[in-house]
Amino acid sequence: MTYTIEKVTTLIGARRYGDRDANIGFILTDSRSLCFPEETLFFALKTGRNDGHNYIPELYRRGVRNFVVTEVPKGYASDYPEANFLKVVNTLEALQRLAERHRDEFDIPIVGITGSNGKTMVKEWLYQLLSPQMYVTRSPRSYNSQIGVPLSVWLMNEQTKVGVFEAGISEPGEMLALRDIIQPTIAVLTNIGEAHQKNFSSKLQKCEEKMVLFHDAQTVVYDADDPLVEEGLKHVDSKLPNGDSQERLGWSMKDKKAPMYIKSIEKKESATTITYIYKGGEENKYSIPFIDEASIKNSIICAIVALRIGVSADDLDERMQKLEAIAMRLEVKEGQHGCTLINDSYNSDINSLDIALDFMNRRPDHKGRRRTLILSDIQQSGEDPRELYAEVSNLARKRGVVKFIGIGPEISAQADEIQIAEKFFFKGVEQFIHSEVFHSLRDEVILLKGARNYGFDQISELLVEKVHETTLEVNLSAVVANLNYYRSFMKPETKLVCMIKADAYGAGAVEIAKTLQDHRVDYLAVAVADEGATLRRNGITSNIMIMNPEMTAFKTMFDYDLEPEVYSFRLLEALIKAAEKEGITDYPVHIKLDTGMHRLGFDPEKDMDKLIDRLKHQNAIIPRSVFSHFVGSDEDKFDDFSAHQFALFDAGSKKLQTAFDHKILRHIDNSAGIEHFPDRQLDMCRLGLGLYGIDPRTNETINNVSTLKTTILQMRHVPAGDTVGYSRKGVIDHDSVIAAIPIGYADGLNRHLGNRHCYCLVNGKKAEYVGNICMDVAMIDVTGIDCKEGDSVEIFGDHLPVTVLSNVLDTIPYEVLTGISNRVKRVYFQD
Ligand SMILES: *Cc1c(COP(=O)(O)O)cnc(C)c1O
Repeated sequence: MTYTIEKVTTLIGARRYGDRDANIGFILTDSRSLCFPEETLFFALKTGRNDGHNYIPELYRRGVRNFVVTEVPKGYASDYPEANFLKVVNTLEALQRLAERHRDEFDIPIVGITGSNGKTMVKEWLYQLLSPQMYVTRSPRSYNSQIGVPLSVWLMNEQTKVGVFEAGISEPGEMLALRDIIQPTIAVLTNIGEAHQKNFSSKLQKCEEKMVLFHDAQTVVYDADDPLVEEGLKHVDSKLPNGDSQERLGWSMKDKKAPMYIKSIEKKESATTITYIYKGGEENKYSIPFIDEASIKNSIICAIVALRIGVSADDLDERMQKLEAIAMRLEVKEGQHGCTLINDSYNSDINSLDIALDFMNRRPDHKGRRRTLILSDIQQSGEDPRELYAEVSNLARKRGVVKFIGIGPEISAQADEIQIAEKFFFKGVEQFIHSEVFHSLRDEVILLKGARNYGFDQISELLVEKVHETTLEVNLSAVVANLNYYRSFMKPETKLVCMIKADAYGAGAVEIAKTLQDHRVDYLAVAVADEGATLRRNGITSNIMIMNPEMTAFKTMFDYDLEPEVYSFRLLEALIKAAEKEGITDYPVHIKLDTGMHRLGFDPEKDMDKLIDRLKHQNAIIPRSVFSHFVGSDEDKFDDFSAHQFALFDAGSKKLQTAFDHKILRHIDNSAGIEHFPDRQLDMCRLGLGLYGIDPRTNETINNVSTLKTTILQMRHVPAGDTVGYSRKGVIDHDSVIAAIPIGYADGLNRHLGNRHCYCLVNGKKAEYVGNICMDVAMIDVTGIDCKEGDSVEIFGDHLPVTVLSNVLDTIPYEVLTGISNRVKRVYFQD
């Protein structure tokens, strides 16, 4: 659906500058995701740290002509002769108003889903249940925020027969805006949990806030057995206009008169059958291929909504049996023959395809490799397949895809619609993996996007390099969440250096750097020049600081634009000499002061005059920043010493600044300091451990990033009296089951964890290391644990904090994380 620019101007109540005609089909809030410039309307949002207005010149150059702004650029008529600027008071509110007016165009069932957990599962399952009979528009992934909801609602078009949208809140007051945009006819509350509790005074307050979504809905769906929800409904009643009534579809296992009475829940080995009576009608059943509590409860919510929208009980049962688990993960893996594989098993539809294509397009790739898309049939009922695949083709082309592989009968039938020079089609996965096309994939970035039931897992298994069964899984979304967590303690204008030394604390510097660059951090810092050069060769263009520059590597630094730290007169002289020899001037460097660590750095009391004098009498290098490092910002008992360090730094760095006209950035806070000494954040902070999910002050997990996993190779019964492992150290005192796992001290599993000093997790249960840990293998005690060969084992990560290991080893988590050896494959994903 498109709107003329006049119409948009009226809808959002803007004042227009510029008089070009335009039709708006796309909304953009993030300049990096631009795809169709001519039809795009850019909203220049101001968030805590960023201001969309800064991207207007770049977007104009790339062809965008329509902007919603709070300030119209000066001289717009001459600088942007072809543009329309719509001036409003608040761009986020304008975005929300536009979505709201767009919503008004639709007289169809709209489902709004809120709750603490399960929103995405309910949304995706509703999609699976409804889409066989009607065209569903739903929020992509978990777009449920103040920005995500309007972008989702905007996706509704002429074909949409039902809309399904998530609404997520983290603070009081946020639901009101979301409700106005979604205007659900059916509002759903999944449950009330503990998430984000810190911003609410009580669970009831949180419940009532979520129930703001209920206020104008015709129908509401909820768990009637939760007393808190009953309490919250009273509050909703008080808001309903007099005389209005609302259809209340609560589900209950206790109350036979409940609109959705759940008579029984029968769990079998891998499926559950639910017997229900809906609105006092006949008794019916459906089964789902899951047995966990969350899936069962969410399926009941979905059943109510589907029945309410008009799915028959028989169809419901048939579709429920086929429900698929939701894969939110988008994984990046090294493939064979120089390929990189981006595997997105998230449901295949055009919106999620666009998000995955955008992800691929935005990740820099130095080698200039081809971008290939392997795509299954897209399930989207109600849309003309020709139009659908023409749209797919258009999107893929715009996002840089040069090779297209379609798999499935429907996509093959639409081969003509795909306007990409290199294209291949196969009826099924089997035909593809036996083809020449499959065997000749070389040096490509491959996006694999297919609905589960097409067997795309098989393709990914074949494409990925066969590796050691031990992997370090790195959650890129958690890295971003941690980045935002620390940014929330910082003033918007304070700059940030992200420390990715030691291969990003073991997580893998290249992929972490790509993610950080995408999130616009100001500096990346690595230890040595070679690490910086590797980043550059992988397409990283951010500023890079070298913390331990070697005198032998100045040329590398100059060649790759890497900015060294300078900590001594010897280094300073050598660097000036090298730069002069190359004819380089004003090369940025970072001056380190020693305020008490006594490791590296100039003495802020004794060296400053000489340092300033030397810097003033040359023009090869120029101080870009000056910094020092706390020795104990993570412990209160060193607060006095930290204050002393800060005073020394403050005086020394100010002295340096005074001697120069240009701004020299001052920085001293590390992860712990950002939180603990907010008033010492100065111009810039340096974030290390916190980025990787560990709070250095409490050792608690923020958002876990790295999970080290392996699998059980072999299991055996070992009778009492026998021993396990070298030197007969693992004495077995009662009959036991021992499993061998392919990870040893050569992988970074410290030998001191052996002999029952620590444990790993097997199917959620603790299994101790028995006997000495070997070089490549360790043995664990799985007596009494329900497990088998091939099962997954967590060494540390999501369920077993790495600090458990570092505490046993009497060391810090930094050492454990950076000790994971290179042969352990890193696998990246985002959810
Ligand atoms: C490693 C390092 C940091 C980051 O420290 P964290 O405790 O991991 O936040 C900051 N500054 C310097 C100079 C470092 O070497």
